[in-house]
Amino acid sequence: MIYLDNNATTAIDPEVFEAMLPFLKEQYGNPSSAYAFGKKVARAIDHAREQIASLLHCEPEEIVFTSCGTESDNSAIQSALLIDRDRKHLVTSKVEHSAILKQAEALARRGYEISWLEVDEYGLVDLEALEQSVRPDTAIVSLMWANNETGVLFPVAEIAEICRRKQTIFHTDAVQAVGKIPIDLQSMPVQFLSLSGHKLHAPKGVGALYVNRRTRFNPFLIGGSQENKRRGGTENTASIVALGKAAELAIGHVREEETRVKDLRDRFEQQVMERIPGVQLNGHPEKRLPNTVNLAFEGTDSEALLMLLDQKGVCCSAGSACTAGALEPSHVLRAMGFSTDRARSSLRFSFSRLNTDEEVASAADILTAAVDKVRKANRSVVTVGS
Ligand SMILES: *Cc1c(COP(=O)(O)O)cnc(C)c1O
Repeated sequence: MIYLDNNATTAIDPEVFEAMLPFLKEQYGNPSSAYAFGKKVARAIDHAREQIASLLHCEPEEIVFTSCGTESDNSAIQSALLIDRDRKHLVTSKVEHSAILKQAEALARRGYEISWLEVDEYGLVDLEALEQSVRPDTAIVSLMWANNETGVLFPVAEIAEICRRKQTIFHTDAVQAVGKIPIDLQSMPVQFLSLSGHKLHAPKGVGALYVNRRTRFNPFLIGGSQENKRRGGTENTASIVALGKAAELAIGHVREEETRVKDLRDRFEQQVMERIPGVQLNGHPEKRLPNTVNLAFEGTDSEALLMLLDQKGVCCSAGSACTAGALEPSHVLRAMGFSTDRARSSLRFSFSRLNTDEEVASAADILTAAVDKVRKANRSVVTVGS
């Protein structure tokens, strides 16, 4: 198998796996318990908090562990709405992950007003449009750091600055950015940031929300006083320890993401472009994650391509995993102004540090053959039909 779908999920790093095992076996104490057996687990959670704080350059107290990226996204928005109930307006974009998109749609049905920022053909938002959309009654601006489908990076520092000037809360869904590019929250006025374990070589079902220490917060899950009263529920100790370890490893690997992983991605992109005619890049050529490439293959359909690639053991995706299976063309590519045809003939390839040079070469060969096959089949269908 050649796994080129690391934006959908990643393999657990063996070191991460080793780190979490004791907490699934002998270290089963409840971190809230008063005795040493529990307190030891509480200390492991605090260590994980420090490891994540080091990766993001923030304070450990600013990290709240959650069950996933989706929960982090929901918690940030719901908190902002509860803190100031007079503010009933939200700003977001048309290319967000469904964790934000569907939530905003649900809020719109409940009477909130949403400003949906458009993107250009590179997938970028217009900062002037952002500035104009923020109002005195804007509860929160939620814009992603890196797009999961195209890898396109929003100018988060500038967005944060606009929100600071306009005195509104800024949340960024950084699930795809954390671990892939350097993040320094010390120099950026962000109130909330979401991340998810399984996108950076930790297990599925654990995430974190950064809450700036000066930002008032209302818990999304109301219950016990875990996470300094910010998230009820007994901690997922093993997965939290794993997420901490994954963050520590990410600090050591972020250079590699920008060099070796980027190199793998660039070589794949170049080989595909050279060998297959009628290929177009979806997204910005530079303002993009180092691991992601989204390509349109003229005269094909992604579903047929995915099937042929799957037969040869290549995993990649059309649109986001969350919308796969549904016949809807990607909302991200549609928002970039591309035709349904282009959106329906596009594939995303996302690499990680676990990929090899050999995999890139084989995947390019397999993809070349698959595109050729689908185009020939499509041409013969047209001939028979006419
Ligand atoms: C994967 C992803 C999420 C959701 O994270 P889960 O942990 O799967 O809930 C949210 N936003 C973005 C950009 C993602 O890529």
